[in-house]
Amino acid sequence: MKTLAELFEHTLKDVYYAENAIAKALPKVSAAAKNPELKKAVNHHLEETKGQIETLKKVFKTIDVRPEGVKCDAADGLLKEAAGVMEEGEGVALDAGLLAACQAVEHYEIARYGSLREWAKVLGNEQAHILLSEILDQEKAANSKLTNLAVTAINK
Ligand code: FE
Ligand code: FE
Ligand code: FE
Ligand code: ZN
Repeated sequence: MKTLAELFEHTLKDVYYAENAIAKALPKVSAAAKNPELKKAVNHHLEETKGQIETLKKVFKTIDVRPEGVKCDAADGLLKEAAGVMEEGEGVALDAGLLAACQAVEHYEIARYGSLREWAKVLGNEQAHILLSEILDQEKAANSKLTNLAVTAINK
């Protein structure tokens, strides 16, 4: 990897892997959550995540690359932590822990999409810039929603 274009392609594959792993994990998080609002938020973000995977396929198209993932150790690690919370968490600590684990994932995604969309711009790929900005906005909104839920309900 030497060029920004190569870095862009690699990181796109990284988030593609991450989103697929997240889509697989979220139903388990939703099933484990006790608070109905948290359940709802997780289910809603699962639907958004499926849409993001489709949007990422469009981004691959803009660079003429077949959509494929490359192992994202960060997402794997964050999802492993979420699985740990499900195993060990009980009562109020379970929901608070699950919510925090979800926010850690959102923060990872926000970091990645922030970089990717700016690289797209520098590379003159305006379409990718727009598509990735759409996903970034969804991740930011998901994170804000979780913050609100934490301070108004889950942490009480
Ligand atoms: Fe996502
Ligand atoms: Fe990664
Ligand atoms: Fe951690
Ligand atoms: Zn997300």
